[in-house]
Amino acid sequence: MEAADRPLAGALPADVTAAMTAWYADSGTDLRTRTRVRRVEPGAVLLDDGSRLLADAVVVGIGARPATAWLAGSGVELGRHGEVVADAGLRTSLPDVYAVGDCASFPSGRYGERLLIHHWDNALQGPRTVAANILGTAAGGVPAVYDPVPYFWSEQFGRFVQYAGHHSGADTTLWRGDPAGPAWTVCWLRDGRLVALLAVGRPRDLAQGRRLIESGTPLDPELVVDPERPLKTATA
Ligand SMILES: Cc1cc2nc3c(=O)[nH]c(=O)nc-3n(C[C@H](O)[C@H](O)[C@H](O)COP(=O)(O)OP(=O)(O)OC[C@H]3O[C@@H](n4cnc5c(N)ncnc54)[C@H](O)[C@@H]3O)c2cc1C
Repeated sequence: MEAADRPLAGALPADVTAAMTAWYADSGTDLRTRTRVRRVEPGAVLLDDGSRLLADAVVVGIGARPATAWLAGSGVELGRHGEVVADAGLRTSLPDVYAVGDCASFPSGRYGERLLIHHWDNALQGPRTVAANILGTAAGGVPAVYDPVPYFWSEQFGRFVQYAGHHSGADTTLWRGDPAGPAWTVCWLRDGRLVALLAVGRPRDLAQGRRLIESGTPLDPELVVDPERPLKTATA
């Protein structure tokens, strides 16, 4: 049951999720979009249109919000998603208070916007910057800046799905491989440089792409779309 018109609507554009939507039917899963759940009852799920689905088990996957209400009035600034607003060094608005992981947004110099990331890798990397700042500040050093290439992975119907970077609707979309096939990659370029990629069953593309995003190496779009060519050699 999916309230939006497609799965992963918050993370990926419609042409990419179209390929993924087919995975549900292929596996015999009945995906119902534009379908809102009103409540879960013993043995059933009640939908917004009043219909009732019998259910032995219910898995709820509707995202998460930081539980930060207890910080109201503390002097720690909260953002519009209820998250802690951190600076580029992951400091909050209170001296000596830092925030990392799912609860904190930070200004990304790399992407020119504030990011709020709910992924494991972000929770792993952020504390390194905080530790460096606590120790470095104490020693009078240069403040460490948190500016990661975001990364997450998922497994869907036996496929390994990985995403690195951050893209917007204005970026150029390039496909590597046939989205109807078992393995393909989508690359997003801005000003000729890779800013994000989604790799399905192509972990090598992901590893190479992540480094290309970090280095900001200019790419040749005509070479990028050749799935036989290692992504790292598609440079302009
Ligand atoms: C079902 C599920 C699947 C996921 N799958 C993936 C995946 O495939 N790939 C991926 O990259 N990420 C995945 N994630 C996201 C990933 O787990 C999170 O991004 C990561 O755990 C965030 O770490 P964190 O330390 O910021 O927060 P959390 O792991 O949420 O830890 C926060 C802790 O703070 C505690 N806490 C909250 N409020 C208070 C309080 N007032 N006082 C004291 N303690 C408090 C909580 O109890 C919790 O233990 C998944 C998450 C879920 C729920």
